[in-house]
Amino acid sequence: DSAIDKFTAKNPQSAAALERARAVLPGGNTRSSLWSAPFPLCIASGEGCRIRDVDGNTYVDFLGEFTAGIFGHSSPILARALADAHARGINLSSHTPYEVELAERLVARFPSMDRVRFANSGTEATIMAITAARLTTGRERIIAFEGGYHGGVATFIPGADRVNAPYQFDVLPFDDLTAVQAAFAHDPQIAAVLVEPMQGAGGCRVASTAFLAGLRSLCDSHGAVLIFDEVQTARMAEGGMQARLGITPDMTTVGKFFGGGLAFGAFGGRASIMDRFDPARPDALAHAGTFNNNSLTMATGVAAIDHYLTPAALEALFERGETFRGRLNAAFGASGLPFEATGLGSIMNIHARLETADSSAALRRLLQFGMMAKGQYFAARGLIALSLAIGDAEIEGFFTALTEVLADIAG
Ligand code: PLP
Repeated sequence: DSAIDKFTAKNPQSAAALERARAVLPGGNTRSSLWSAPFPLCIASGEGCRIRDVDGNTYVDFLGEFTAGIFGHSSPILARALADAHARGINLSSHTPYEVELAERLVARFPSMDRVRFANSGTEATIMAITAARLTTGRERIIAFEGGYHGGVATFIPGADRVNAPYQFDVLPFDDLTAVQAAFAHDPQIAAVLVEPMQGAGGCRVASTAFLAGLRSLCDSHGAVLIFDEVQTARMAEGGMQARLGITPDMTTVGKFFGGGLAFGAFGGRASIMDRFDPARPDALAHAGTFNNNSLTMATGVAAIDHYLTPAALEALFERGETFRGRLNAAFGASGLPFEATGLGSIMNIHARLETADSSAALRRLLQFGMMAKGQYFAARGLIALSLAIGDAEIEGFFTALTEVLADIAG
C-alpha cells in the first residue's frame, strides 16, 4: 500500500477533480473503463506521445486511449484537416463531399466491405450491424463470446452487472468451435455470429485462425451472417485482421481511429446486406443519426488514412508491437514474477497470474503504480496500445523502468 500512498501524495489535484465530479457524475465517472482505485488521473493535456495530469506530472502514454489514440496527441496534419473542415461550416444540413471520400477509402481497405455506413461510436456500429443481420435474415439469435466486448451495450466480460442491449445473445466460450457447432445443431436459425479476431477488452485473447475459419464455414452452411468486430484489430494491417488471415466476414465494424481522433464508428459489408439501407428501396431499413456524416470527423478521417494509416506504417507498428510484447515476456521471465503479456501487434495486455483474482489484481497494481511513479502510463487492467507517436527512446525508457520496477517487486 505504500505504492498507493505515494500515488495519492503525488496527485492531490486529480483526487480533488474526482471529488468535484462526484456531485454531478455518478462516482465522478462517465466512462466505466477509466475507473481505478484509489482514483483515476485527471489528464489536462497531451503532446506527441506524452500526457500531463492536473498536478503537472508527465507520462509517456502507453495506453494510447484504449487503442483509439494511434496518432498520439498532437498532429499538425490532423489539426489542419479539422480546422479546414471547421472553416467550411460546422453542421452542413445535408450530404458533404467528405463522406464519400472516407467511404471510398474504407471500402477499398476491407475485403468484406462493398458498402459502408457511418455512426458515432464502435458501440453504435456494432448494434447496427447486429440489427442489419437480424432484419436481413429474418432471424433473432446472435452468437457472441465470453470475454467479448462490442461496446457499452454489448459486453460479455464477467464482472460487474452490465447494461446490455435487449437482444437475444447466445454467449459461448471463446475460441471453442465445438460449442458453436453444437449451437447451430441445436438451432440452425441463428442470425449472426459476432466475434473479435482478438478480444481486446477481454484481455487481448487472440482467436485461433482455425476458430475463425470454422465460424466462416458454419455461417456459410447455415445462412448466418458472420460479423467481425475489428474496432480494435483494424490497425493490424491495411485491411485489418481479415486481410491478415485471409478470412472474409459478411460484415465488419470499425471505429476508434478512423475518424482521425474524433468520435467515430462504421459498419460495412456485402452489398446484398448493406443495400437494404438504400432509402429509395421499398423495403429500406432506416438508420438516421445527426452526426453520422459530420464533416469534421469525415474530413479528419480522410487525412488520417492518407497520411498515417498507410500499409507500411501499420506493418511497421505491428512488428514493433510484436517485438515489444516479446521483450515484455522476456523481462517477466527473467524477473521470476508471474506476469505474462498476451496480444497481437501493437495491442497487448499484461496479466498477473497468481492463485486468486484478488492477489493477481494486487500484483498487477504494484507493477502499474511502480511504472507510473517512473512516468510510464498504461491501463490499470494491463492494456498497452502503442501509438505511432512513440519512438525508440520512449521504448527503451519503458524497459529500463520495467526492469527496475520488477526488481523492486521481486526484492
Ligand atoms: N468493439 C470493440 C472490439 C471495442 O474494443 C470497442 C471499444 O473499446 C467497441 C466495440 C466500442 O467502441 P466505442 O467505445 O467507440 O463505442
